[in-house]
Amino acid sequence: METVAPYIEIIELIKEAGGEAFKLCYQCGKCDVVCPWNRVRDFSIRKIIKEASLGLSEIELEEIWRCTTCGTCPSQCPRGLGQIEVAVSLRKIATQYGVLPTPVRAVGTAAAGLRIDGNPLSEAREKRADWANGLSVRPFTEGMDVLYFVGCYYSYDPRLKKAAVATANILNQAGVDFGILGTQENCCGESIRKTGGEEVFRTLAKDNIKAFIDHGVKKVLVSSPHCYETFKNEYPEFMVNFEIVHISQYLLELINQGKLELSREYRKKVTYHDPCYLGRHNGIYDEPRDVLRKVPGLELVEMSECREASLCCGGGGGGIWMETPKEERFSNLRLEQAQAVGAEVLVTSCPYCITNFEESRLTLECEDVLEVKDITEVIQDVI
Ligand code: SF4
Ligand code: SF4
Repeated sequence: METVAPYIEIIELIKEAGGEAFKLCYQCGKCDVVCPWNRVRDFSIRKIIKEASLGLSEIELEEIWRCTTCGTCPSQCPRGLGQIEVAVSLRKIATQYGVLPTPVRAVGTAAAGLRIDGNPLSEAREKRADWANGLSVRPFTEGMDVLYFVGCYYSYDPRLKKAAVATANILNQAGVDFGILGTQENCCGESIRKTGGEEVFRTLAKDNIKAFIDHGVKKVLVSSPHCYETFKNEYPEFMVNFEIVHISQYLLELINQGKLELSREYRKKVTYHDPCYLGRHNGIYDEPRDVLRKVPGLELVEMSECREASLCCGGGGGGIWMETPKEERFSNLRLEQAQAVGAEVLVTSCPYCITNFEESRLTLECEDVLEVKDITEVIQDVI
């Protein structure tokens, strides 16, 4: 481990790491008012920004790792400051110096898994396509309509694999000509980048881009909003542009084109949770709701905080890999909001949200009254 930089150097390092925007802050505190952390404990991004501007950042502290990059405070800041960029800049420095406080240690494990196996779960690369065993899923070849980029959690996690299977079943039912990259698929790299792992991100991105180009990929279908964000908004930094579509958008397209018939009823009260990287970061609010409204018998209700005001699940910005005490989990609050509107099913479309919500179902002991579903699992049930 390298020695922590003297504080005098921090301000220069922040600038180099891309966090110069902190200078714009005039300490109004609006960011802290809207930050979900202040529902569960004290946390001040304003203070972090102030310390960074003075070169007084304590990069060995847990505080710089808290921001889940939910995107709520940047939309409220009167100075248009990039709070997320400041947090990521500090993490870059901490990563560079190998300073990971105990609750954040698993970020290092995730980075190691990404370097060796191309996924943060340290699962074997050769098992990446095992979720599709027994299904009619082919390797992608040039000329196919769409590449289904499955993503790490949907490929390996037992809960999320069910959503990958549902997606494949839906695509087959709709007659979509699709394929997967299998062992040649790598993590998109979005979350490791937000923890400051720029080098790991760049390696993953280059490997994925090479695989896309080698296979003649033009259109990429993703299940995860994190893959969507990075392919659509970050990979163009490498001078490439692929057509990116999220499964919630694609489902609506297939239904509207008459390729997917929703013939069975789903007589349940459902609420939809907007994942941060689908909603706030990319403005995709209507398509998943339009899909759910087309399901016969389904009653869609909104939670008190929805669309732009959606409450973060806590999984972004590497939060999915960090230890968060049970009483500090935003996902518990979100489940309470779902129950408050009488929902029987909480539907979303993000692997981190589903992971956190499933865990909160156990914590809150509400498994019998509230289901958590990926949107594809609902659609699979009605075709
Ligand atoms: S809202 Fe913007 S200007 Fe106000 S304290 Fe936060 S970062 Fe600074
Ligand atoms: S982006 Fe979200 S989690 Fe991060 S400081 Fe802003 S409101 Fe808090």
